[in-house]
Amino acid sequence: MASISARGVEVIGGYTIVRREPLERLEGSFIELVHERTGARHIHIECTDDNNAFAVCFPTVPKDSKGVAHILEHVVLAGSKRFPVRDPFFAMTRRSLATFMNALTGADSTTYPFSTRNSKDYMNLLQVYLDAVFFPLLSEDAFKQEGIRFEFEDPADPSSGLRHKGVVFNEMKGALATPQAAMQRNLGRTLFPGTTYANISGGDPEHMPELTWEELRRFHADHYHPSNAYFYTYGDQPLERTLATIEESALSSFKRSLVDTSIPNVKRFEKPTTSAEPYPAPPGEDNSRKGQALVAWVTVPAIDSFRLLAMRVLSEVLLGNSAAPLRKALIDSKIGSALADGSGFQDDFKETVFGAGLKGIAVADAPKVERIILETLEKLSKDGLDASQVDAAIHRLEFEKRERSNAGFPYALKVLFNFLGTYYYGGDPYSPLNLDADLEHLEQVRREGRFFENLVAAEMLDNQHRALLVLEPDTDLEERKRRKELEHLAAIEARLTDEERARIVADALRLKVEQEAKQDLGVLPSLALSDIPMRFDDVESREVKIGNTPVEFFPLPTNGITYLDIRSDFAALSNDLKELLPLFSRVFTQSGAAGQDYVEVANRIAAVTGGIGAGPAVQPLAARDDYLQSFLVSGRALDRNVGPFIDLLTDLTAQLEIEPHRLKEVIDESATRLESSIAGLGFQFAILRATSKLSSEGAINDGLQGIGMLHEVRRVARLNEEELTDVIARLQTIRTTLFRRNAIHVVVTCEESMVDLIAERLGGLVDALPDGGSDGHVERPGPLARAPEARTAPLPVAFNVRGFKTVRYTHADAPVLLVLANYLRDTFLHRELREKGGAYGAVAQASTGGGTFYMASYRDPEVVRTYDTFDRAAAWVVDGEITDETLKEAILGACGDVDPLESPDIKGRREATNRLAGFTRAEREKFKKRLLEVSASDLRRVAVAYLSSNAHAQATVAGPELVAAATKERPGLFEVVAPV
Ligand SMILES: [Zn+2]
Repeated sequence: MASISARGVEVIGGYTIVRREPLERLEGSFIELVHERTGARHIHIECTDDNNAFAVCFPTVPKDSKGVAHILEHVVLAGSKRFPVRDPFFAMTRRSLATFMNALTGADSTTYPFSTRNSKDYMNLLQVYLDAVFFPLLSEDAFKQEGIRFEFEDPADPSSGLRHKGVVFNEMKGALATPQAAMQRNLGRTLFPGTTYANISGGDPEHMPELTWEELRRFHADHYHPSNAYFYTYGDQPLERTLATIEESALSSFKRSLVDTSIPNVKRFEKPTTSAEPYPAPPGEDNSRKGQALVAWVTVPAIDSFRLLAMRVLSEVLLGNSAAPLRKALIDSKIGSALADGSGFQDDFKETVFGAGLKGIAVADAPKVERIILETLEKLSKDGLDASQVDAAIHRLEFEKRERSNAGFPYALKVLFNFLGTYYYGGDPYSPLNLDADLEHLEQVRREGRFFENLVAAEMLDNQHRALLVLEPDTDLEERKRRKELEHLAAIEARLTDEERARIVADALRLKVEQEAKQDLGVLPSLALSDIPMRFDDVESREVKIGNTPVEFFPLPTNGITYLDIRSDFAALSNDLKELLPLFSRVFTQSGAAGQDYVEVANRIAAVTGGIGAGPAVQPLAARDDYLQSFLVSGRALDRNVGPFIDLLTDLTAQLEIEPHRLKEVIDESATRLESSIAGLGFQFAILRATSKLSSEGAINDGLQGIGMLHEVRRVARLNEEELTDVIARLQTIRTTLFRRNAIHVVVTCEESMVDLIAERLGGLVDALPDGGSDGHVERPGPLARAPEARTAPLPVAFNVRGFKTVRYTHADAPVLLVLANYLRDTFLHRELREKGGAYGAVAQASTGGGTFYMASYRDPEVVRTYDTFDRAAAWVVDGEITDETLKEAILGACGDVDPLESPDIKGRREATNRLAGFTRAEREKFKKRLLEVSASDLRRVAVAYLSSNAHAQATVAGPELVAAATKERPGLFEVVAPV
């Protein structure tokens, strides 16, 4: 326990508690500590959540774009003093039941977070993380493998051409190929000249080769010191034990040091500026309206929690939904069709940024975008903002503050990212967690009048630190970069002596031997199979009938929020209507209804809900080779708004009004957004395309989220308003088919006390719907043509996928396939594709529900070599030695896969789906039990049975040069080659 020192302050070991505050909504406490000897800072969130989290964060401020902070983040995880194995981080992902493990390099900091529900696992990971960041080996080989190295095309042949290799090198090539990245780069360079933000902290592949191992080690010594460290812990584990471990394992070896990672404020402009940046666009297409223009200002400092809050609210009011005045003015202008990348409020700089703009513009129209923004802001500042829109934006903050959701990633870490910036910039970390004081202050200044109008004037109209940031599509950019890299390499190669060539070959071969060497992982802590929880929670529910409509209630402690899903089967729709479902999903929340136009509906959604979404989902059945085709409308609202929330859902389902002009806007916006996201969607597209060749549900998924969907969006985007009349009729047919009294099934997760009230209000919704149910007619498309396929996109890397058809969940081989996926990924594919090949990611995945298995590479510099690796995978399992240790790790990994982190918002919905699709608790426990029994001979048998056949499907999404080179090297590798 904490004790009181002579000075009257609370101390725990070498730490002093400097602050302790209540966190009412978390039913916990905020505890801020300082480690006296080193100055290390620590915040602990004490609460009853058993998903305990840890993070250590170092402000890191690189002075160039060589990628030192990012490469260091990779290399510290590649072996440390106590754990001198090749990659303890990846090894631990296999020996742990972590609910989150990662490392993140931001623009000005590097963070190492994890979370887990198992207390032994928590202590294991804590030891490994501490040793990694404070005592890494930082070996030269790890630097070369993860960062950058020279290697010949054929590593053993010095005449085969000099190349750059390295994991981060390829990771960043892929990451920087998107328009989003180009905008962010333009923004940092233009708004923050002379500061760390002007650099690319992740590393620019053009400058990465300049980084030396020496520089990397110096950067570590300068930044990764307890005096520059910000620790975070969260959950129900005892703080004393955690602190004692941190002191013993790390801090006790250090003395206080003066580390200056402060970031100066940028020198404010005397007048606004303009800057253009190219981004890679596909050749041979119409790129005349693929430009972007963003007007951005440097605004309030991130340490000022009140002004930060005010700017967040203002940004939400101006841009937050389709009724927001600045967004509406931009879209109505017809100069572009969607908000530019970088629009909104960005608080991850020391001085924050607000931006607004358009994409889908002709580059020459950029000044017009700026004019519209300035004129709209002038007008708003003069005439005033709509008070109800401000109320809605504040309501949204209240919602976010209340919700404790593990959706996306653990709540335990959402709390951290809420205050981390403020904390390390030197502000008060408590106020972002406890908005009450700031919210009260905001209400008070609003009452005094013109608060937001004055804010618009001060931070935007009168603020000269403004830039017009333009993005220009450039069809030749990737090719120029590629040529430049090759010319540069050729120049270096020409100067190499025979001795240097021999050394590059020797280094490459040595690295390869090391990568293949067996390691003694015995030094690493691990969980035993007996640590795995074998039972799943029962989730209680209660069914209420409203007429013939079933409503399933899951009463759970939701912190005063109601979650409501309306499910309907879309199997009854004909295939051509199914193709329109992605469009219908967007139209559903962006149109008018019940006599109100889309602006009024958008205002209602913002005012009374925490968001409404709609979309189709294909849900595999556990026991049969079949699937559910569910269309889901999902919404959430504070309990006090449940009445108007259900009224809103009633209007949308029963009286949606789709009008051609608005439909055209919605279509253009989604088409523009999709076209500008293609580089980021390559992996998803490749996986869906490969699985679409294996099964009917794969084919549907490709049409809903894959290349099929993209093509449908393009088709609809070519129609004019008149031609859209027919589309509107079909969209309305979709609505009236899906939303019928006997076709819907409602799932509600809420506080017990809300059940009766909600049941009563749902009566109104059911009454408003037409009678009848589905006619039982079901359409299922067949799989797409099996021929292997390559799709080109403006990318400098490849995504390669090979898929196999397997068995359903209740089949005895399904658990073996899940273990096999973990085993193949963590041993063979990780080594061959990532460590040796330089791909950023190597994946093997068993979709136990969908009955498919795939191997894939992510941001891969190779194509042919990767497919050759896939060819060898089954034989490698069959002929290689499978140690007890690696088998145990694969089983642990598989157990983690079937036990995802839940929270009330997820739990009821997931349980409802499980019941519908036959994933009963008994079946899931049986599956998990069988996971523990998987043997090495099972893995071999299943690898032969499912992965050695030629009946696989393949899809690659890659840059045109990579596809061309692969086709030349291996004619017939792809039967179809086309742009995405
Ligand atoms: Zn990385």
